[in-house]
Amino acid sequence: MKALVYRGPGLKALEDRPKPAIKDPGDAIVKILKTTICGTDLHILKGDVATCRPGRILGHEGVGVVDSIGPGVTAFRPGDKVLISCISACGTCEYCRRGMYSHCTTGGWILGNEIDGTQAEYVRTPHANTSLYHLPEGADEEALVMLSDILPTGFECGVLNGKVAPGSSVAIVGSGPIGLAALLTVQFYSPAQIIVIDIDDNRLGLARQFGATQAINSADGKAAEKVKALTGGRGVDTAIEAVGVPETFELCEDIVAPGGIIANIGVHGKKVDLHLEWLWEQNIEITTRLVDTVSTPMLLKTVQAKKLDPKRLITHRFTLDKIEDAYDTFGHAADTHALKVIIAA
Ligand SMILES: [Zn+2]
Ligand SMILES: [Zn+2]
Repeated sequence: MKALVYRGPGLKALEDRPKPAIKDPGDAIVKILKTTICGTDLHILKGDVATCRPGRILGHEGVGVVDSIGPGVTAFRPGDKVLISCISACGTCEYCRRGMYSHCTTGGWILGNEIDGTQAEYVRTPHANTSLYHLPEGADEEALVMLSDILPTGFECGVLNGKVAPGSSVAIVGSGPIGLAALLTVQFYSPAQIIVIDIDDNRLGLARQFGATQAINSADGKAAEKVKALTGGRGVDTAIEAVGVPETFELCEDIVAPGGIIANIGVHGKKVDLHLEWLWEQNIEITTRLVDTVSTPMLLKTVQAKKLDPKRLITHRFTLDKIEDAYDTFGHAADTHALKVIIAA
């Protein structure tokens, strides 16, 4: 089968690999229909993710058809159409019993990281009973690929951790796919103000179309002043960090109102200054989280009910044999205006 393989920092190749086989009783082999590329895959290619070794098939998102199952799989049958969660969960370890699937002792984020992933014709999915989801009848496969990772990530790490409430004020720092996923799902809670901040005017334009009440280009270094001006000098109740660099986290420190929350989503590769010399008296909270995908069943229902349209995040489509072009397009988003790319296997 064809598969996109990580070959070390800066290197990847589309290779022929053997079709995966069942290893553990809880495994399913899934034939991939649609997959995508995540910002995290670009982090891996930069060499930022030490757990991902050269030789690994990348990808942790996708929709497919169950091809075969191990003897322990009871919830799925060959031929079932499934959504693959980016998080594998055994369902029985201490963390899983607490709903913290991201820290499953034999799972978590392993697909396309510690085990071979979804940017291939087939993938082995461990703990299939508790890591796959049935696709609803007539579901839009492309839309549901967005539910493997970015929608639950934006929602759980940004919106839920940020305790967004009706009538509150929210700033989303970063208007890439994850920031826009937070923007789509924050509207479940009807905040009064949703201020999106980025340095890319194209993405800020999209943010307005997706429901932002205000958009700020932070390239002039005056974003904090502008947020204060828009919020009567207070700042925002929830500041969602959706980039993962020191400047954007520190901007969240500057714009969070007294009593507010900084909800971090960004994958940080560098240390960040925490300004406790003035934040100590601001009654704020700071939250971090690796997505648990506990909200996936709820998100599936909202997509089916047309309360949420994640297909709006898809800008480009490729076939698996052109996946290297897909990486080029996704990796040069400022020029190509790419958000999410769909790859048909
Ligand atoms: Zn991802
Ligand atoms: Zn577990």
